[in-house]
Amino acid sequence: MDTKHIKIPQDHPLPTPRDITPSESILYEYPEPYHKESPFSKFWLQCFKCGIIANLGSHDSVEVENGKVTISPSILCPRESCKNHYYIKNGIVIPA
Ligand SMILES: [Zn+2]
Repeated sequence: MDTKHIKIPQDHPLPTPRDITPSESILYEYPEPYHKESPFSKFWLQCFKCGIIANLGSHDSVEVENGKVTISPSILCPRESCKNHYYIKNGIVIPA
């Protein structure tokens, strides 16, 4: 599975649950400077299993190169009923 990268316009809200297709892996990026919910990072990730969107502020590295997303370290979905654990490297979702 590939991870989409979507840039959100300034002052635009994150998608609401009714807009979400849970089977997709999507990285949302807000424009800099991003102060709205500081100390959160400008990157938010949608879990492809349950659809929750969580901030990536606790991750060491989020990179987008030529539209390909790489996130380090691995991703653990914060939703208790999901706990989906995986990696995203060069846009590809890899089970952990
Ligand atoms: Zn999840």
